[in-house]
This record gives sequence, C-alpha cells and structure tokens, in this order.
Amino acid sequence: MSFIPLAHYLFIALNVLMWVSLVYANKRDPGFIPCHSPDYDMALKQVPFYEEWQVRTGQNPLENLCHTCRLVRPLRAKHCRICNRCVKHFDHHCPYIDNCVGLRNRGPFFIFVSCVAWCSFITVYFAITMLHVFGFSWLFLFGLLQFIVVSVLMGALFIFVINQISINLTTNERINKKRYAYLRGPSGIFLNPFDRAALGTGWSFFHWVEPFDKKPNLLYNV
Ligand SMILES: [Zn+2]
Ligand SMILES: [Zn+2]
Repeated sequence: MSFIPLAHYLFIALNVLMWVSLVYANKRDPGFIPCHSPDYDMALKQVPFYEEWQVRTGQNPLENLCHTCRLVRPLRAKHCRICNRCVKHFDHHCPYIDNCVGLRNRGPFFIFVSCVAWCSFITVYFAITMLHVFGFSWLFLFGLLQFIVVSVLMGALFIFVINQISINLTTNERINKKRYAYLRGPSGIFLNPFDRAALGTGWSFFHWVEPFDKKPNLLYNV
C-alpha cells in the first residue's frame, strides 16, 4: 500500500500550519515591556544606598535596569539589540520570523519549527519514493541529498526546542547561564529553579499555568 496520497495531504496541512504560525510569530508582540516605567526612576533614587543594599542582599540591584528602555527588567527578560526593546522571557531574535522569540510568541514559534522539521522529513520520503518509482534522476538525487541535510538540521533544532521546553530554560539562559545569579545554587554551581515536572514546564511554556517572572525587589531603605 502506498502512503503517497496520505503523505501529500499531511504535507499540505503541515505547510499551511507552518505559514500560519510563521505569520503569527512574526506579527505577535513577543512580550515587549512598556518603556519609561516609574520603577526605573524609583530605582535610580536608591543609587545612594547601593553599597548597603548590595552588602545586605548580596545582589546588584542596578544590573536589572535597562537604561535604553528606562525600565526595571523582570526576571528572565533581556534587551534585544535588534528590536531595541526589552522582552519578557527573551529566547533569541530569530531572523526567519523577523521578530524576537519571547513569552508571547514562543508557542507559534515552536509550531513553526515543528512544521518545518516534519515537512523536511516528508520531503525526504517523497524523494526516495520518486527514485524508487521513476528510477535514477540527478534531480531526485539532488533533492534527496538537499533535504537529508535540511532534515538533520531541522530535526536537531526540533529536539533542541523540545528539550528546552522540558527543562523550562530559554536559549539565552542556556547560552549565558554563567551570567545570571538566579541560575546558580548556594554553592555557585548551575541550578535551574524553573525546572519542574516535564508536564508542568510544558503548561508554563504554553501559558496554561502562569509563567514565573517576578520583578526583583527594588524597595530598600537604609
Ligand atoms: Zn531594554
Ligand atoms: Zn528582537
């Protein structure tokens, strides 16, 4: 029995879903934080208490300030140099969707990556079937080799994103984990405070439970 008709319908459905998720991930606000926050001015007023604050809390309160956006960055947020805005749960700036990947558009981005990966796998199946049915052709062979490479790359990205969802870390946190104090345990070794049960992190990723991104405490008076 040939799976070609079924594979065609599946390919078309995934292709439509891929374009819809691409447009959605591109147009949707990734989680830009409003600029000129009153918290920023309040934090600046506390600069004279900086030394005492740092000694007592062991934290540097000023590292959470973004002077470009004039705001206090919540936990897990980062300033994107390309968008020139701070983004909640900043993952990375994706040139393919031409937008940041953050708190609000990471779901459609994941669907986009998944669809591209599965479309690549199906294309490999098509190319193998063409070689089998119509015999050798340089065009089919070229298509097969090309999509084997694309499938390996997209398959790796697909697994990478699923792994990140399962441990509830962003790409930025994974790459720059040494920079963030909240990703270190008492002994100074890497500790992921967001890693819950796999199901729990999945819910958080798709916003079925409230993601954890509390603001740092900026009220400190000596
Ligand atoms: Zn910023
Ligand atoms: Zn960006």
